Amino acid sequence: MVYSGSVRDLSPWLLIEKRKRQSWDDYFMMIADIVSTRSTCLSRRTGAILVKDKHIISTGYNGAPRGIRNCVEKGYCNRKKMGFKSGEGLEYSYAVHAEENAILQAAYHGHSTKGAVMYATTSPCVFCAKSIINAGIVKVHYIEDYPHDFSLQLFKEAGIETVKYPKERLGQIRSEFDEILRQRENKNKKS
Ligand SMILES: [Zn+2]
Repeated sequence: MVYSGSVRDLSPWLLIEKRKRQSWDDYFMMIADIVSTRSTCLSRRTGAILVKDKHIISTGYNGAPRGIRNCVEKGYCNRKKMGFKSGEGLEYSYAVHAEENAILQAAYHGHSTKGAVMYATTSPCVFCAKSIINAGIVKVHYIEDYPHDFSLQLFKEAGIETVKYPKERLGQIRSEFDEILRQRENKNKKS
């Protein structure tokens, strides 16, 4: 059979070569950002995931421990009720942080965190930083800075690489994602 059309029509795989794909960092950070939407914290939604060999081994968002009513259900933030400012009075918070939850979820399901890479929406606090160091995590990508940077100093001393992810990139990814959804919708309408 002689094909008279464009060579591009021959195989969808040729088109796929032209298709825009997210980088691994974009892909994992977008997922960490989506994970943060499950948060039950009333003041800040955070998300974190742990990746090993380009596979997600666990996810975490900030929220109350298993079996305890979360702040959304209670309708108040305990720290705010006690008059603490942002980043203070953490010992009175019901929430387990996203980073710690990601480590705990890996433990719960029996996955080793040694050598894993973390993608987190916020720079980890000092408590999470210490857990990250001892969980054997080797690299931390984060978007937002936390009110203090002692944790970054801890990472430096422990030899853990930290990479700040450009916040504006998330907006770009979201519009690219919307575009993919629009294309899919149009394709479905046609078929
Ligand atoms: Zn923390």
